Amino acid sequence: MNEILDLVIIGAGPAGMTAALYASRAMLNFAIIEKGFPGGQVINTYEVDNYLGIKMTTGMELTNMFLEHINELGVEVKTEDVEEITIDGDIKTIKTYSGTYQAKTVILATGASWRKLGVEGEARLAGRGVSYCATCDGAFYKGKDVMVVGGGDVAVEDAIYLSRMCKKVTIIHRRDEFRAVKVLQEKLFKVENIEVLWFTELEEILGDEVITGARVINNQTKEVKTIEVDGVFVAVGNIPNTGLLAGKVDTDSSGWIIADENCETSVPGIFAAGDLRVKSLRQIVTASADGAISVFAAEKYV
Ligand SMILES: Cc1cc2nc3c(=O)[nH]c(=O)nc-3n(C[C@H](O)[C@H](O)[C@H](O)COP(=O)(O)OP(=O)(O)OC[C@H]3O[C@@H](n4cnc5c(N)ncnc54)[C@H](O)[C@@H]3O)c2cc1C
Repeated sequence: MNEILDLVIIGAGPAGMTAALYASRAMLNFAIIEKGFPGGQVINTYEVDNYLGIKMTTGMELTNMFLEHINELGVEVKTEDVEEITIDGDIKTIKTYSGTYQAKTVILATGASWRKLGVEGEARLAGRGVSYCATCDGAFYKGKDVMVVGGGDVAVEDAIYLSRMCKKVTIIHRRDEFRAVKVLQEKLFKVENIEVLWFTELEEILGDEVITGARVINNQTKEVKTIEVDGVFVAVGNIPNTGLLAGKVDTDSSGWIIADENCETSVPGIFAAGDLRVKSLRQIVTASADGAISVFAAEKYV
């Protein structure tokens, strides 16, 4: 029989690591489990300049600061991939490939993954010109030419946002109309330095160390051309990493976990913190805030 912990935190991104910090301060008997290197999506960004008090750092440096902080409190992140969670009853069971944990509460902080296009050059240049987050990385393209790929609200919003700092924004969309809400579209069509290319798909992102351009194809005429850009912002949606609780807690139709302002899900004792839950802004600071709040709620539950 396993020891019954107060709390198991799954995922060591900003939400999970902040949860570990607060759980440690609250003297809870807990474990934090991460399937890869701690840090989450933050590791994928070269520059972070919007975390209060830290004017500019790299994702890796920030991750190391987070890790050092929790390690100093005696927290050790366990490197295991959680494969299954049983959440019926008062004691939850968490199975990894190498063991089983039992706990009174679980904070799921497994984050989200940006939907990728899968085109040539995308993986190689990720974080070196290929970005999935205009709010995070837009400022690095001041006065430069960029491309946005997508046709939904996020793509159109990103193009408008980027047009304020970039010289030119080319938005490409595979259809001849956007899915974005009309009000956003109207805004976009009024911006002079945004060019819209309809029926256009990205074929390849060009460059070795940095982006030099993007090869696109018109899916009607089959005309292929290269557009010189310094950055490519992919905005074709993201996916919550919520498979572990699929069908077990309430989610919206896209799988994002519905949690209240205390990060409580529809199942007592199960909390959702960070990018994986329904929210309007997915950033380090909002994920960290969730980490803190969820522990406060879990502590009360325990
Ligand atoms: C390229 C890029 C640049 C960004 N730049 C910025 C920026 O400049 N500023 C900013 O504020 N935000 C930025 N963001 C957004 C920010 O990174 C996220 O909002 C934040 O990381 C969310 O934290 P999280 O802890 O909720 O999830 P994540 O960071 O996604 O972490 C989740 C963790 O859970 C782990 N995990 C998943 N499944 C399992 C499992 N089954 N078992 C164990 N572990 C599991 C994952 O490996 C991961 O480490 C950026 C994102 C990207 C992709």
